[in-house]
Amino acid sequence: MAADDVLAELAALRGGDLPTHGGRTLAYVYDSALPGLDALAASAHALASSVNGLDPTAFPSLLRLENDVVAAAARLLGGGPGTVGAVTSGGTESCLLAVQAARDARPEVAEPEIVLPETAHAAFHKAAHYFGVRAVVVPVEATTFRADPAAMAAAITGSTVLVVASAPSYAHGVIDPVAEIAAAARAAGVRCHVDACIGGWVLPHAEVAPFDLSVPGVTSLSVDLHKYAYCPKGTSVLLHASAELRRAQYFASAAWPGYTMLNSTMQSTRSGGPLAAAWAVLRHIGPDGYRDLAARALASTRRIVDGIAATPGLRVLGEPESTLAAFAGLDVDVFVVADEMKARGWYVQPQFASGPSPANLHITVTAANDGHEDAFLADLRDAVDAARAAGPPDVGPDVVAFVAALDPDGLTGEQFAGLLAAAGMGSGDQVLPDRMAAVNTLLAAARPRLRERLLVEFLGVLYTPSE
Ligand SMILES: *Cc1c(COP(=O)(O)O)cnc(C)c1O
Repeated sequence: MAADDVLAELAALRGGDLPTHGGRTLAYVYDSALPGLDALAASAHALASSVNGLDPTAFPSLLRLENDVVAAAARLLGGGPGTVGAVTSGGTESCLLAVQAARDARPEVAEPEIVLPETAHAAFHKAAHYFGVRAVVVPVEATTFRADPAAMAAAITGSTVLVVASAPSYAHGVIDPVAEIAAAARAAGVRCHVDACIGGWVLPHAEVAPFDLSVPGVTSLSVDLHKYAYCPKGTSVLLHASAELRRAQYFASAAWPGYTMLNSTMQSTRSGGPLAAAWAVLRHIGPDGYRDLAARALASTRRIVDGIAATPGLRVLGEPESTLAAFAGLDVDVFVVADEMKARGWYVQPQFASGPSPANLHITVTAANDGHEDAFLADLRDAVDAARAAGPPDVGPDVVAFVAALDPDGLTGEQFAGLLAAAGMGSGDQVLPDRMAAVNTLLAAARPRLRERLLVEFLGVLYTPSE
């Protein structure tokens, strides 16, 4: 097939996606709205995508780029003279490695535990699952959704290898009391990780309490470049306060006949593309550029949050301090509001009820929303009115009861196929219905363990090549 035709086919497929630019997709994507940034990143990516970060002595350009990027992150986030780090493929890998390093630095602990606020990112549950570590989940303060430092301190035991705080949490965009949590960890001689994956490139420019490596007791911090550093997908930084804290993250193996394996992260072969693209974007935007982008995203969030708070039928959850927010419905079904927003060209992200947090809609605001807040708020008001008029989705009470009664561990293929049909789902590329409120209502009726099972089953259906 001719190269042009291949690209045309790809472009046509991309046409079916949510827009990644323009501020209408309020989760998953981050748009600086800076002209030329995509082209720069793509060119830098192309220059380095065939080099392999596996061996920094063979490709010293990547070594230099990584040290530059880590140094930039350390400068921004309170690093001291001994601060070191690694560039990873994303926030999840950074969080996984923070847990793995903490576990492996304490081989004497037979049953290692990590202490998490219930609002911590799911990546820490993934780490617990992958690395055989127990997640000790601590309730947050029920109205602010912030971690409760006294409860966190009380949860630390002799088996604790890591305590986690978020700056901010993904779901509600609130910042945990990092100083108090880190002090408790330090007093117990335990590591403390700050998950600044989403907020790390914004919060240094916001008026918030100290949250970074300058806080005594904070031993590591994760910050994603593919979020508010506006880099292409595939880069995050994991910082450690010292080389000694990082050592257990590294992996070496001479137990095979090939070259002695030596890895700084979970990957072996590592494309230079994402790193080079991130390096180029950081250099191009620069500290002043990021200050401006952060100020605009923060101001835009403030205007949007104030507008939501003033919208009859909606309630903002907690007090968002960064560029994320979550809002619940007072007299409207938020899943229907999400569908109504979708019909108006906006993606807002449904979040199920969890602990003290009711069902809500999450928004991630970027610099691209600056100046367009009124358009969003006007459509949101209309969407809420339409949702109120429509009422909750018509899912038969028998179907809800059937779902609620399913046994997650005994779920059969037949039961799942029946559910897909009941939810109005098709197959192949057309699997999702236009309106998701009924599906979300069914999923909300499922207990968390069952919801996990149902969605895993669903993912298996999605990732099945058509004949
Ligand atoms: C996005 C995010 C992560 C995980 O990052 P990925 O890049 O999606 O793997 C972890 N923690 C927080 C707070 C996040 O927002």
